[in-house]
Amino acid sequence: MTAPQPALGIDLGTTNSASAYLDAHGNPQTLSNSEGEPLTPSVLLFEDGDVIVGKEASKAAATDYHRVVDCAKRQLGRRLHDKQIDGQQYPPELLQALTLAKLRRDAEAALGPIRSAVVTVPAYFDEVRRKATQDAAYMAGLELLDIINEPTAAAIAYGHRHQLTNGPPQVVLVYDLGGGTFDVTVMQVGNGEFLTLATDGDVQLGGRDWDQRLVDWASEACLAQFRIDPREDMRMLGRLWRECEDLKHTLSARAKGTLHFDCRGESCRLEITRREFEERTSDLLERTAFTTRQTLDATGLDWSDISQVLLVGGSTRMPAVSEMLRNLTGRTPDRSVSPDEAVAHGAALHAGHLLGGEHLVPFTVRNVNSHSLGVAGADPATKLPRTAVLIPRNTPLPATARGTFKTQKTGQDSILVQIVEGESANPRDCSQLGRCVVRDLPPNLPAKTPVIVEFNYQENGRLQVSVAVGDDAAKVEHELIRENSLTRQQLDHWRAQIAAGTLHRPPADG
Ligand code: AMP
Repeated sequence: MTAPQPALGIDLGTTNSASAYLDAHGNPQTLSNSEGEPLTPSVLLFEDGDVIVGKEASKAAATDYHRVVDCAKRQLGRRLHDKQIDGQQYPPELLQALTLAKLRRDAEAALGPIRSAVVTVPAYFDEVRRKATQDAAYMAGLELLDIINEPTAAAIAYGHRHQLTNGPPQVVLVYDLGGGTFDVTVMQVGNGEFLTLATDGDVQLGGRDWDQRLVDWASEACLAQFRIDPREDMRMLGRLWRECEDLKHTLSARAKGTLHFDCRGESCRLEITRREFEERTSDLLERTAFTTRQTLDATGLDWSDISQVLLVGGSTRMPAVSEMLRNLTGRTPDRSVSPDEAVAHGAALHAGHLLGGEHLVPFTVRNVNSHSLGVAGADPATKLPRTAVLIPRNTPLPATARGTFKTQKTGQDSILVQIVEGESANPRDCSQLGRCVVRDLPPNLPAKTPVIVEFNYQENGRLQVSVAVGDDAAKVEHELIRENSLTRQQLDHWRAQIAAGTLHRPPADG
């Protein structure tokens, strides 16, 4: 008999990550890392062939910024992270895997061997980023029980805390502003179900953008006073960034803050009020308000239908966020579950549920897709490129949809199906998810033979594609050829390297 597995939930954040497990009573508890802290900065320091993850790496940013990589999550979906370390660039999902491996090791120190976990992603993550997260878990040696959306996880934690899971359905708005991403989700909670009604967000908006405004403000002051621009010197920038983030935190607690900064030997002292800071960042906050309004519109509900507004993510500590939401929704946002821990707690509850844990109120999670999924086609009349949407955004998952297309020429021997994700009518402006190539079509196939493309979009936001050619041809599952994904060999290589605590590139990798 195998020992019962701990139910581990991991919030793999842009700035900070956290993990939680379920105690003997089925209640989520945050795990401390090896430094004794609940949050692990998602920051990596490359040092003499070693990779250090967490607080030490974050502190090193002030002096060794050129050896430090942060915000890998923001670059998921690209082939390589743009930061070069000793002339090397790494795939973002590998950097995420290194953070996951540290969280796993630290969890094992408390709980014993860990095989599997639930990992969370922003609701607004597209398929490519979800696949990259799955790959990161694989490289970290973790079996992924499920990927769930961060706001869903937060709502699960909230539902558990307030025993709403089996109560009458309530509509909850989850506003999640972290370090690097913004998500807003409207959910229905109750009757044993967490049902997402609509979701939207911005993967390039978070606390770092608020930091950047302070960095620019301070840099311009240094430039005016000393003719030195700290943004042009990596080390100075690293230090200034930390100071500005601290100042931002001070401004959440106080009406005024002071920045002390050493600008190449010149001492720079700058003051800013919370009001000035809010003015300098009001457009960022307005972007989140706009998305929040749009998300509610997508559900067809009114503000009066919303019974709770939940705050998730460290950046919701900025007083301007609560104020904006109070004005927008007419409700005082709920802070009863810690914004830093809610997501990991919900993930642990979901893991416990999937592992068949006792003491848990059973629940189901139902999701929607956050981006429309379609095929790049051509307008029959104009021949211009046009996106044929098969699964519109906010469709409940799992979803299956079919589209019928036609071969172009007589005797065509292969078909290329280009799969895209996004809202633009022009497929070139959508995110290119991958392609399927169907070869060796029967000879002498007439032009305009129907090609039926079927999408099967799973609950975890991952896609399967099958293509059938001709009226009665059997449909064939097709592997998506992805532009920026690691190959199976590369994944296995990095998995072995991480397990061995080294980081040598595969021989064939440039
Ligand atoms: P998360 O990704 O949820 O861990 O959130 C991290 C972000 O929250 C970072 O940008 C932090 O600077 C920000 N943050 C944490 N505490 C505060 C605070 N007291 N005031 C403003 N921002 C904060």
